[in-house]
Amino acid sequence: MTDQSPRFHAVNTVAEWQESETASNMPKRSMTDVFGELTFNQRVMRERLPKSVFKEVQSTIEQGSPLDPKVADAIASALKSWAIEHGATHYTHWFQPLTGSTAEKHDSFIMPDGQGGIVTELSGDMLIVGEPDASSFPSGGVRQTFEARGYTAWDPTSPCFLRKKSNSVTLCIPTAFVSYTGEALDKKTPLLRSMDAVSRQSLRILDLFSPGHGAKRVFSTAGAEQEYFLIDRHFYVLRPDLTLTGRTLFGTKSAKDQQLDDHYFGAIPDRVLACMSAAEHELYRLGVPVKTRHNEVSPAQYEIAPVFETANIAVDHQMLVMETLKSVAPRFGLQCLLHEKPFRGVNGSGKHVNWSLATNTGVNLLDPRDETHSNLQFLVFLAAVIRAVDLHAPLLRATVANAGNEHRLGANEAPPAIISIFLGDMLTDIIEQLQNGTPKSTKRGGQLDLGANTLVDIPRDAGDRNRTSPFAFTGNKFEFRACASSQSVSWPLAVINTIVAQSLDEMATELEKAVGANPTPAKLATASKTLLKKVIKEHKRIIFNGDNYTDEWVEEAAKRGLANSRSTPEALSALKKRDVAAVFKKYKVLSNHELESRLNIYAEQYATQIAIEADTMIQLSRQQIVPAASRFQTQLAQAVSATESVGIDASDQRGFLDRYTGLIAQTMRLTASLQETTSGVHASDELATARRFREDVVPAMESLREVVDELERHTADDLWPLPNYREMLFLK
Ligand code: ADP
Ligand code: MG
Repeated sequence: MTDQSPRFHAVNTVAEWQESETASNMPKRSMTDVFGELTFNQRVMRERLPKSVFKEVQSTIEQGSPLDPKVADAIASALKSWAIEHGATHYTHWFQPLTGSTAEKHDSFIMPDGQGGIVTELSGDMLIVGEPDASSFPSGGVRQTFEARGYTAWDPTSPCFLRKKSNSVTLCIPTAFVSYTGEALDKKTPLLRSMDAVSRQSLRILDLFSPGHGAKRVFSTAGAEQEYFLIDRHFYVLRPDLTLTGRTLFGTKSAKDQQLDDHYFGAIPDRVLACMSAAEHELYRLGVPVKTRHNEVSPAQYEIAPVFETANIAVDHQMLVMETLKSVAPRFGLQCLLHEKPFRGVNGSGKHVNWSLATNTGVNLLDPRDETHSNLQFLVFLAAVIRAVDLHAPLLRATVANAGNEHRLGANEAPPAIISIFLGDMLTDIIEQLQNGTPKSTKRGGQLDLGANTLVDIPRDAGDRNRTSPFAFTGNKFEFRACASSQSVSWPLAVINTIVAQSLDEMATELEKAVGANPTPAKLATASKTLLKKVIKEHKRIIFNGDNYTDEWVEEAAKRGLANSRSTPEALSALKKRDVAAVFKKYKVLSNHELESRLNIYAEQYATQIAIEADTMIQLSRQQIVPAASRFQTQLAQAVSATESVGIDASDQRGFLDRYTGLIAQTMRLTASLQETTSGVHASDELATARRFREDVVPAMESLREVVDELERHTADDLWPLPNYREMLFLK
């Protein structure tokens, strides 16, 4: 390794970093001091808004009541002063278009005063609505390009925040993004609509079981655990595949990777910990309650998880988590990879989305309490989730379908592509009791004796954990584990809310009918037991408590008639189903047109992603791999002829040269054929195109990779043009 080599520099950054300012410049203020300081949260609003205006906003945030536009001027004026005091010069309507990332267009607060000076301005109107030129955002056919109008509409339930970069401060106003006709062009609008739907239906169940409950709204709550990789940035910039596609398109295994399970929960490497702390510090300032950090299974893989929040805010905050990890890492010479499968052969990254329902008075409706067997209200909510997931498993699968996740789902590290529910021993036992009559008892875990005198006995949960299930009940919430690490969790949450709203609605209707105009607790108990029995009988096929990674489960699931969509296009086709369109329409979450546009966008994104990957492979192969291999081939040929010229037998070298030359030729042929396959894709619509990419292009990429990886294994290390897996995964 010469001191000109990029690898030399990468190795040196670790040392440089340790001396750098970044390391000594670690946050000096405490978490409590900085938490939320960049947000226009309720505490700031209480201080700065007239009392009546604050009350109005508070009731919008806490009870979902509509905000009177008349108070917008007062809020805008307080917001502007606060932002400017913190150094802001610009504001932006921050929104989440269907690209998967967030979007912003900045405007300054200035307004010429007509006398050669300026005043600053942020009116109520400017707060409430914006009109970015929307023509370059995906609309999936909702809008023609000549109809460029799109509107952003302020979401008062999610706090405004300041984005501080080196010399700029921008006020970000969370907004929804809709077309001229009011159709959703973003991820927030359907989520907010779904939250309304599930709230309405949950309140009906509460009215039945807990009259006088006093709740005005039921919120869906969410906490998303984010997995990610951190690698040295020098290596990242030397890998066109990582920079353009987020994953390594070539690369042979490192001799050691995760076989020893020694990374998971291990001590966090210094540089990584410094980077995590800096990211957490930024997130605290933005009011994002990040809580947990640890090493994940694969070397160079980590996780960050927040405390749960209202789904809408959790989604906004999750976007900030992803953006912050990405923007902070380079300060430490690191690159954050959010792709689902950056490296072949080691675990990829997912995002576990924890979900529950809670009243505005703080009651978690999925908390089973102690006497679960007699807690009929809980059992009705539970049964509604089971029913919803069984009725709409293919739809749920579709919400996590992207090009990256295709490498994970069903690949024995992540849940399979078959959606099923894990309930655990305690609930499974109650469900069995229900089927045979009235449940009489709740299984308890008891105490766990640790066998050593000095260790206190600890309470044991009523059931063990299951890490393999895609949709698991985990004590007082469900955990949807099939989400993709790079995706926004908005879409899965909107779907869970919608399908659960449907089941709650239909179950509430049956119960209301059964108890009639004069309900009594006895009537309600009888009606609920009958209903629960029926729901469980019809939908218990979705419950599976065993190991979801096994082949037996795949067979068993097929017998039960559960869908197993391995490919993204196949999974996305669920969005075409009539019952799916019907449920979105009925609960006013997405119109048929809006749904169709989403299908088109997701299918197109998949095809485009694969096309970019294929093109990147072709370029890499032609511009880097084949030239490097040819250099090595020349060296080999020279060695053979030099050896033979002095009369020494070189037949082994000659044989190797022969095989190596064959690999180069194969690489060239497969590259040409990948190019031909890619350019030959023509299909009638987006989904059909996505299918062609999946069926024709992906296998052609696979064949090329196999040969190139074989070449890598036989090429002199100093000639191989790309940083290898060992370097990327192990240089901490
Ligand atoms: P793990 O899944 O690793 O065991 P935890 O059980 O601690 O981790 O929780 C994971 C995530 O679930 C956290 O983000 C946590 O805030 C979130 N969570 C906990 N309770 C709820 C809830 N009622 N609703 C939504 N998310 C929740
Ligand atoms: Mg989890």
